[in-house]
Amino acid sequence: MKKHDFILLAVIVIILLPIAILLLNSSKGATAVVKSDGKVIDTLNLAINGTYTYKNDNGYNIVEVNDGKVRVTEADCPNQDCVNKGYIKRNNESVICLPHRFEVTVKSKDNEYDIIQ
Ligand SMILES: [Zn+2]
Repeated sequence: MKKHDFILLAVIVIILLPIAILLLNSSKGATAVVKSDGKVIDTLNLAINGTYTYKNDNGYNIVEVNDGKVRVTEADCPNQDCVNKGYIKRNNESVICLPHRFEVTVKSKDNEYDIIQ
């Protein structure tokens, strides 16, 4: 009877472990939501480094993802506020380019990670 219980427990662990690992990994994934004219036009995975160019009627913004951080590296806006803002990585932190109505906001699902930073 006890041996049977142990086997049942082992089977449950084997089934649940991959699911638990999957959930744990997905909760760590931070993204950057890219908005143009108030509409979401892209969602960037901050775990993947890259450079992205966005254009709208007002101008262009070049967004760079680097080691979990995101910034606007280049833009043709007059005030360059978005470029001067530098890297952002905290949950709900944004780079806003007012002249272009362009916005990048970090969405981190792991709130504890924010507190550690
Ligand atoms: Zn700008």
